[in-house]
Amino acid sequence: MSAKHSLSTWLTPMEPMPRLAVALGLNGDELWVKRDDLIGLGGGGNKVRKLEWTVGDALATGADTLVTTGAAQSNHARLTAAAGARLGMNVVLVFPGTADSAAGGSGNLVLDSLFGASVFWSGETDPATMGAVAEDVCEQLRKRGARPYLIPFGGSSPLGARGYVEAGDEIRMQVPDVEHVVVALGSGGTMAGLIGALGEERVLGVDCGAVTEPADVVAALSTQVTGRNVTAASLRIRLDQVGPGYGVLHEPVMEAMSTTARAEGIVLDPTYSGRAMAGLMAAVREGEIRPNQRTVFLHTGGLPGLFGHAQTVQRSVAALNSITFR
Ligand SMILES: *Cc1c(COP(=O)(O)O)cnc(C)c1O
Repeated sequence: MSAKHSLSTWLTPMEPMPRLAVALGLNGDELWVKRDDLIGLGGGGNKVRKLEWTVGDALATGADTLVTTGAAQSNHARLTAAAGARLGMNVVLVFPGTADSAAGGSGNLVLDSLFGASVFWSGETDPATMGAVAEDVCEQLRKRGARPYLIPFGGSSPLGARGYVEAGDEIRMQVPDVEHVVVALGSGGTMAGLIGALGEERVLGVDCGAVTEPADVVAALSTQVTGRNVTAASLRIRLDQVGPGYGVLHEPVMEAMSTTARAEGIVLDPTYSGRAMAGLMAAVREGEIRPNQRTVFLHTGGLPGLFGHAQTVQRSVAALNSITFR
């Protein structure tokens, strides 16, 4: 197995969120935010830590082209494009939809373009078969003489998850007696890695609706990361923040985003980190997280995705306070 390839400056900051803590009914000194949104590559976010390991493996195999899949607003795809730019490698992103679906596109697609990535539009594709489509794209690239390396959906392999074992170690060092680490659950590698460092009891995942069986996905990855049998039943996963579905704005998420922005000047996104915060807030309301328990919110990034989310953009602009003077 290969070494990781460093893509940023470590460790990321741990900041208190005193005003938000008090707004939620916690004590001011026991709610923290781990700023993985500030990771200094390509706009930041959790995917960089996973890419350090998968890209390290790609380099070890002599690859010259990184290939990955996701939704058109995938933060993972954008950061794969940035990593490729940093390393002088070609990047091919495999997205569902057609080139027309990019028209009027914004957010992550803008950055994919700036980083010089190519996009293969796969048409109407069942999400379950995107991996096979990407394998096919690799085959076509090989026929053209390229040496492609396929990074799985979300970078969530046991190898990629190692980046979050390291992040979990940082969290334990920065907040030694942490009792809850709250994180968005998408493709599962981030939560699985944290479990590798912190155990099942301390990690609370908030499902975002990116996969159909999130507990099974995280259990399988955690089992490989830890080398012991981690069962789906032992995991702390909240399923209550998916709402109408992955790409759709969920009302409690809009509230969590504006509460956090107004209390701390911190921006969350409607697909992942906003859902995680809405889940944290629900956990406090229900007594799953109580005062006098140190809690870390892992900020996984996603700001470009906010600007690519038309519903959230429209709602926010419509709610803008205007003042006038006569
Ligand atoms: C991908 C992503 C997540 C979820 O991480 P997984 O490892 O896929 O579960 C959370 N937040 C943001 C902003 C992401 O882009």
